[in-house]
Formats: sequence, C-alpha cells, structure tokens
Amino acid sequence: MPEHILELKKIGYSYHSLHGETLALKDISFGIKDGEFVAIVGPSGCGKSTLLSIIAGLLAPESGTILVNNPDGSLHYPRVGYMLQHDHLFEWRTVYRNVILGLEINHLLTEERLEYVNQLLIDYGLDQFRDKRPSELSGGMKQRAALIRTLALGPELLLLDEPFSALDYQTRLTVSADICRLIRQTKKTMIIVTHDLSEAISLADRVIILSARPATVKKELPIRLTLQDNSLLAARYAPEFQDYFSQLWEVLTEEERREEE
Ligand code: ADP
Ligand code: MG
Repeated sequence: MPEHILELKKIGYSYHSLHGETLALKDISFGIKDGEFVAIVGPSGCGKSTLLSIIAGLLAPESGTILVNNPDGSLHYPRVGYMLQHDHLFEWRTVYRNVILGLEINHLLTEERLEYVNQLLIDYGLDQFRDKRPSELSGGMKQRAALIRTLALGPELLLLDEPFSALDYQTRLTVSADICRLIRQTKKTMIIVTHDLSEAISLADRVIILSARPATVKKELPIRLTLQDNSLLAARYAPEFQDYFSQLWEVLTEEERREEE
C-alpha cells in the first residue's frame, strides 16, 4: 500500500489582479499519511491559507499535481471538512440547528446522520445546550459545536485554518488540545495551519515549515513527545518540547537573520 493518501507534487499558485501577479506558492511537495496530524506553520501572508484551499479543492493549482492513494484503493478525492478561524455559528439559530446546518444545506438530513450528530452532542457534553444560542456557550463549547457541525458531513480529511486564533491565549491552550484530542479519537487525517509554533508542536505528528512568500517547504520535522500524564497540557511539558521549539525557531527566523547580516 502506498505510504501517503495524498501527495502534493511541485504545487505552484499565483493570484492575478489588475495590479499584477502575486506568486503565493512555489514547488510545494509533501505527502500526508492516513490518520496523520500535520501542522503547517509559516510567516503571516506566506501562502498557508492558499495551500489549504488547494488541498480542499477550492482552488486549482497553477502547476503541479495532487496524487490520491486511498487505503481502499479507490480513486475518489477524500471528502474534506473545513474549520476556519471564526467558528461562524449563527446566533439566530440554536446550537442544535447550527450543528445540523451543513446537513440541511446539503440535503443530507437522514436519520442515520442525525443520530450521529445526537451522539456527538452527548459525547462532547453539549446535549443540555442544544436549545441554547451560541452566545450562551463558552469559547471551548463553541469550538466543540463547530467541530460537530464539521464532522456531521462525514469528512475523511479535516482542514483547520488557524481555528483557535480568535480565542484568548489561556482558553486557546486547552481548547486546541481538547479539539485535537476529539479529532484523534475519530481517527481522521488532519492538516492544521497555525502561526503558533508551540501549538504546532503540541498538536501535530509532523510540522511542515514554509518560507516567506512565495511559500516553499523549508523543513519537515516529525514530532515525538513523551507525555507524563493524560492532561490537556501534557504535550507542552514534554521533555522534548523545548528542543523542537528551538529547531523550528532556527528555521523560521533564518531568513530574517540573513537579511540583518
Ligand atoms: P497566509 O494564510 O499564510 O497568511 P494567504 O495564503 O492568505 O497567506 O496569502 C498569501 C499571499 O497571497 C498574500 O500575500 C496575500 O496578500 C495574497 N492573496 C491572498 N488571497 C488573494 C486574493 N484573493 N487575491 C490576490 N492576492 C491574494
Ligand atoms: Mg491565512
């Protein structure tokens, strides 16, 4: 069986406007394994969201290809679920009507799927809040609701674009770990974009570092952390954490240092 379910090969992309051309991605190549958690980090404006949109199939690459190798040998592109920076829960809908919104729009309100949503509401501790409005939920609960809405559609690949950056720092530490733990339980493949190195190290199996625009892959770093306990912050206290941080920091700031010299 091929090692990667998705393989990006020399992906390039530029935006064209009346004012000219912006080269966003250049020769991006890497693979994604089934069930793997990959974090993509890079400076602001380097092309991370563009790359995610290409993986999601929302943008067509200008050059390069994406190869698909499903574990079952089928050729369909994995069904993608997308979670963005703002949870985009609608205040005029209850929590329940928010989490079934995707199913409603896609005409997929089947008994089986609604049952799955109900189970997730119970598992994620939101069942008693189903008739509340989003503003009555904590930041962590809103993220869990946004996750249920995404999972309801049965995605095989989850793409998260800086999904926690609207939360304050302390909430973010636990909410990001909580949401990723829940996603791990689903055994789905995940790609998360973040500009937070610590977040990338604590959540991912592998970190891909992009250069400043046009984004190229500067380094891929596999992450193995020794967790002392089961707590949400255990990854951040792992003995290897600081060393990974230093390695990523070196690569990320290499260009700036060169410019200063
Ligand atoms: P990141 O997510 O890493 O912050 P983006 O992928 O959003 O970066 O953007 C990469 C570059 O492409 C930026 O310089 C941005 O200004 C430019 N860009 C993004 N979207 C568009 C667009 N629709 N039209 C023109 N330029 C864009
Ligand atoms: Mg972005």
